[in-house]
Amino acid sequence: MSESKPQSALTETAETVLQRRYYLKDENGKVLENWDILCRRVAKAVAAVDAGQPDAEELAGQFYTMMHSLDFLPNSPCLMNAGTDLGQLSACFVLPVEDSMDGIFTSIRNGALVHKTGGGTGYSFSRLRPKNAAVKSTQGVASGPLSFAAVFDAATETIKQGGKRRGANMGVLRVDHPDILAFISAKEDQSRYNNFNFSVAITDAFMQAVKDDASYDLVNPATGAVSDSLPARQVFEEIIDRAWHTGEPGVLFIDAANRDNATPQLGDFEATNPCGEQWLLPYESCNLGSINLGRFVTGGKVDSTRLAATVRLAVRFLDNVIDCNRFPIPEIAAMTQKTRKVGLGIMGLHDMLIQLELPYASQEGRKAAAEVMNFIHAEAEQASIALAKLKGAFPAYDPQYNKYPARRNAALTSIQPTGTVSMIADCASGCEPYFSIVMIKHVMDGDRLPMVNRLFEQVARREGFYSPRLMEKVAASGSVVGQQEIPEKWQEIFRTAQDIAPEDHIRMQGALQKSGVDSSISKTINMPNSATREDVRRGYLLAHELGCKGITVYRDGSREGQVLNAGNRS
Ligand code: UDP
Repeated sequence: MSESKPQSALTETAETVLQRRYYLKDENGKVLENWDILCRRVAKAVAAVDAGQPDAEELAGQFYTMMHSLDFLPNSPCLMNAGTDLGQLSACFVLPVEDSMDGIFTSIRNGALVHKTGGGTGYSFSRLRPKNAAVKSTQGVASGPLSFAAVFDAATETIKQGGKRRGANMGVLRVDHPDILAFISAKEDQSRYNNFNFSVAITDAFMQAVKDDASYDLVNPATGAVSDSLPARQVFEEIIDRAWHTGEPGVLFIDAANRDNATPQLGDFEATNPCGEQWLLPYESCNLGSINLGRFVTGGKVDSTRLAATVRLAVRFLDNVIDCNRFPIPEIAAMTQKTRKVGLGIMGLHDMLIQLELPYASQEGRKAAAEVMNFIHAEAEQASIALAKLKGAFPAYDPQYNKYPARRNAALTSIQPTGTVSMIADCASGCEPYFSIVMIKHVMDGDRLPMVNRLFEQVARREGFYSPRLMEKVAASGSVVGQQEIPEKWQEIFRTAQDIAPEDHIRMQGALQKSGVDSSISKTINMPNSATREDVRRGYLLAHELGCKGITVYRDGSREGQVLNAGNRS
């Protein structure tokens, strides 16, 4: 293994976030940990699974170093809960919603137990009979998926009080459900369903009907009867119109996801976790971890030896997490242990590209991103095959369905938002470009945390265009584009989310999806306020064509209470 990079010190922002939400505290709220102690706690708990293995002793040390150096961080529940009594370490869950009172309220109960432990839940409401359908037992009529979604929302709202993390939900409805039009416009009233992201599950047949300007059937899921048919273009336009107005609903390409289902014998994908990067079967959960790519560039090149070693260690870590996890309900434990899915992702992709001197919005930038993701996937797969030899393949492994050799985990890679862990690591989140060069983040409790891009300052000083006045100008506009003091090459490299064309966002998502992402990608397609509905439409068609498994657009300023604001417009 080549030399590890020197440890990077935690920023003030990172310390604030850690103190508020991650370090363990006593009953009086006194902080009991620091970064070193936290990393030791997590490393020890996760390595304990391997007690008795020949390399058990070194393992805790290696896990510690990988986290402490910020080369790799697991998802928040693991950092918060490993080695504690709670011990629930996963971020992602999908729970089934059966078409019965018992089914619906069992799901609400199970979701509450997941939220209590810091996990996020995805639900498909597609199995629920539509509004006004008959209810045999009461001779009454059904209230429909949306009215039940409001009950899930209220339960989440209550549980978030006092928690370290807001409960988050994904609500999915298939495009051929009879209540689809009401679902598409459900978030028009921005005071409703605020604990949910809503997404329409779109089929290839629907996309074909859009292209052919044909109608498609709406099917009552309880009876299988066709209840109506709608012109596909009209429904597509509705989705586009709402997404243009509010950013919701998002779209999930459910057939693309199911083509990559590694265990179809166990069921189909119906929903993702709240941020969309994990397609999971009902009752599956997944723990995530992300490699901080900005830390793997040495001398203008990606240090592949060190990256390979980190990927392999990260797979070992995430696989162990499954075995030391305390699952909230037995059904989740059973399902998760059958498929043993993990979500190894990346953060700091933009930091890597900046150091390689490649613009995010360019063919070369996408090529470098795809190469690194392919490399990560290949190494992760080798690590998982080696683990299968040591500990056994995932129990649902069946060569009849799986094209790959026996491995330990049915899915290995996904790209998560890394909303908080990237703040700890001080890098661009997930596969996103920096949102701004100077950014104010509103965090829980209404505090404002300023973040100044350290790479931009370093480059400006090195290349001789640094001046306090320029930094102020960049801070005021939130963008480097058009600042004459900055050479054009660097203007391109430091383009931020708002300065990057929507197609370039989508092309990056598509390039990564094709290059070794097993599950999916959390990505926001930023659009300027002036973007038109036609821009949104073109974006959706391009995402489908490129094989993306979902798309979420966000037009600047279209939603109240935007979490991230560029520059000092906040
Ligand atoms: N998540 C959640 N509540 C939150 C943030 C995230 O339940 O407040 C879940 C959700 O499933 C999301 C996943 O955690 O898709 C990963 O989010 P992220 O990468 O932002 O989490 P981090 O580990 O950075 O906190």
